[in-house]
Amino acid sequence: MSGKCSYNPTFSHVYVEEQVKELPLTKEVLSNLPSSKIIYIKHYKDIFNRKKQDYRAQSKSRSLILAANKGNLIFKGSDMCQDHGNSRFFYAAGVMNCLFDCDYCFLKGMYNTADIVLFVNLEDYFDKVKRMLSDGPMFLSVSYDTDLYALQGIADIPSRWIDLAKVNLDLTIELRTKAHPKTFVPLGNVIYSFTLSPQKVISSFERGTSSLRGRLDAVKEATDAGCKVRLCFDPLIRVRDWESCYNEFMDTVIYGVCWDKVYDISVGTFRISAEYIKKLRRCCPMSEVTEYPFVNSEGYSKYPDEIASSMRSFILKRLPEVIDEGKIFCDSDGSVFGDR
Ligand code: SF4
Repeated sequence: MSGKCSYNPTFSHVYVEEQVKELPLTKEVLSNLPSSKIIYIKHYKDIFNRKKQDYRAQSKSRSLILAANKGNLIFKGSDMCQDHGNSRFFYAAGVMNCLFDCDYCFLKGMYNTADIVLFVNLEDYFDKVKRMLSDGPMFLSVSYDTDLYALQGIADIPSRWIDLAKVNLDLTIELRTKAHPKTFVPLGNVIYSFTLSPQKVISSFERGTSSLRGRLDAVKEATDAGCKVRLCFDPLIRVRDWESCYNEFMDTVIYGVCWDKVYDISVGTFRISAEYIKKLRRCCPMSEVTEYPFVNSEGYSKYPDEIASSMRSFILKRLPEVIDEGKIFCDSDGSVFGDR
């Protein structure tokens, strides 16, 4: 037996719902995957919800499913996520799963498969958002339970959302990522939000994502272009040599960012719905990040309060050196430090 990898390349197979084959986004994606085998299907759930799927095997060779979302398109933001002071905080559910592969990702607890569904009926999302705007301004995270920039090689979805924000000034969108986006558009109602982690955490637990250097370069490109930039120190992960790892990381970040151009910052420790943690551990057995002896509190698995608090304080004590405290938002059991 040769030692050659027997897995198909990512997206070697693309399943396409019959009803979406003529949509522009479907055509764009397929034109960027000329070697993939296309299989037409009736409904994405026939593939995505199959029984006895193996996440770990599939994650080495993911399939892509192009579909229309006929269910809920826009959801109210979870109370485990920081709303940065926005009372009308929503997220768009445009993709199921993520091309990146973070050990600690809650998606592993939510789904039984590593395959990715991309909902290509974007116009329906835009129509829904426009209707919701008639009730007042809204904050919409469009890369909330996926990373849209992970898919930038096959579909430029962020640009489509930015175009919507350009003509709907009551809409503020957030594009959160661990990637290095190729382009930045400076608009007052578009926030580029970068998750920053120590390189050790990235190398060990955030497979496929940009390096810390790449993310800091992206932050610089975005601030230089005049974009609103949010930095997310979230989730903080309790690795064995936590203090030295995060100390070195903070030194790199503090000297690597042009702070007067940063819009705001969020700080949070790892937490996850308790119902997902078992499945997460099955997907990433022996992972230092998932095997931590978390405590269960109000339906969530978290670090014990004193540990979480010491981790947040460690980061927070470095930030006032460089940024106004009013711009710092923190997950300290739901409260925020920010003043907006
Ligand atoms: S980038 Fe975010 S959504 Fe994607 S795998 Fe990592 S934690 Fe999950």
